[in-house]
Amino acid sequence: MSLVLFNDLTRKKEEFKPIEAGHVRFYSCGPTVYDYFHIGNARPFIVFDVLRRWLEHEGYKVKFVQNFTDIDDKMIHRAHKENITVSELAERFIDEYNKDADALRIRRPDVSPRATEHIPEIINTIERIIANGHAYVSDGDVYFDVKSWPSYGTLCKQNLEDLEAGARVEPGEKKRDPLDFALWKAEKPGEPSWDSPWGKGRPGWHIECSAMSSKYLGDNIDIHSGGVDLMFPHHENEAAQSEAASGSGKPFVNYWLHNGFLLIDSEKMSKSLGNFLTARAALKEYNPLALRFFMLSAHYRSPINFSRDSLEQSEAGVMRLRNCRIDLDFAARTRADENSGFNMDKFNSELAELDKKFADSMNDDFNTAAAIGVLFDAVYLINTSLKENDSLPPEFFDSAKNALNSYDDILGIIGDDEAESEHDSESEEIEKLINERTKARKAKDFARSDEIRNMLKARGIVLEDTPQGTKWKREL
Ligand code: AMP
Ligand code: ZN
Repeated sequence: MSLVLFNDLTRKKEEFKPIEAGHVRFYSCGPTVYDYFHIGNARPFIVFDVLRRWLEHEGYKVKFVQNFTDIDDKMIHRAHKENITVSELAERFIDEYNKDADALRIRRPDVSPRATEHIPEIINTIERIIANGHAYVSDGDVYFDVKSWPSYGTLCKQNLEDLEAGARVEPGEKKRDPLDFALWKAEKPGEPSWDSPWGKGRPGWHIECSAMSSKYLGDNIDIHSGGVDLMFPHHENEAAQSEAASGSGKPFVNYWLHNGFLLIDSEKMSKSLGNFLTARAALKEYNPLALRFFMLSAHYRSPINFSRDSLEQSEAGVMRLRNCRIDLDFAARTRADENSGFNMDKFNSELAELDKKFADSMNDDFNTAAAIGVLFDAVYLINTSLKENDSLPPEFFDSAKNALNSYDDILGIIGDDEAESEHDSESEEIEKLINERTKARKAKDFARSDEIRNMLKARGIVLEDTPQGTKWKREL
């Protein structure tokens, strides 16, 4: 099965065909860096990073661009409030973004362009839109002339009358028509500004993505993504601007992808509603792997409800995956035997079957929920093999671990191998206590050995005495 993606332009699943064979030009709208990002914002960052990884896994050379919006009204207000410059604010929260995104194991984009570092490109894009007859200057502002663009509304599937009903002219705007939107805003006192052919000012909200996407990826790109709230007006406006600037007749984007909302108490998590949990705060409470597991356990287009329960379930899911690797490591040390009668061919063909199911899930509009299901099928197969066989050949451990690791290269929910084994400091401490307990048992000091077992139990660590030694795992 080849990759199909649900394209919001056609509202259909379509086979993915790149513009250039073997290459994918992928742009994802990034954060406005006026504050820490919340876990709703984290959803697109995580899910589209997983799509990027899957495309690479499928052999594509992906160029992934995700911008930082570092100038807009929110940036200006926050900088005033904090009594710092807008660029100081941006510097700070780009840094904080990177810390949280790294902690969530989101790979860094190939290019992370900032709006304020692309003012010449933005001005050039606006000039081309004006020259092509689709924008006008009004007293230092520049507006896109929506009625001059017949395909406006194609992405959000609304006609101009419907859109007009919801449009209004805000105080201070100098546009001819309520539907028109600003490409350039004339300078206001106390706001950062740049020179332009229309006087000093700053870019409007949408134009940065058009200018930066075209600079790094060209006028016609494969995939553009973001949360579903960006479909209108942001992405509708980007498409109109980009296509009006290029004048090539080619679409700005071939596949538009939008993730559903992360909800809390059935409402969209957002800064404006005040019902948000920052990624920073969530990371203090929950394991990053569990947060990823939670985000990927639903299809990216469906809404997903955040609750303590769902995070606890995700934590338990992660622990099951991690424990499988712990059991594999333990058995590899204690029960590997070249001469085991285990049927390796059968095991490998069952794994190959799962590989195919995993690929089919990911190729079906990157259905990560189904892919996680396959990962659990693999865990079940491995656990059953471990349970039913006294000894297993060394190839078994290699194949089993490779299978888990290759799924996890895409999903990133099991965690680093080192952290699983005796190398991390918590595990080292546990191993030490287990050794002490073994010695106490040999010396018939059962009071001490029970004490250690209970102490570990209180920390959620369960011991299991096997003929090969004591194995430990975390309780779910
Ligand atoms: P912003 O920094 O507000 O531009 O948002 C960054 C990204 O997060 C955009 O792609 C938004 O569509 C997305 N987003 C914002 N809130 C949510 C939410 N509650 N659930 C899912 N995605 C969201
Ligand atoms: Zn954008």
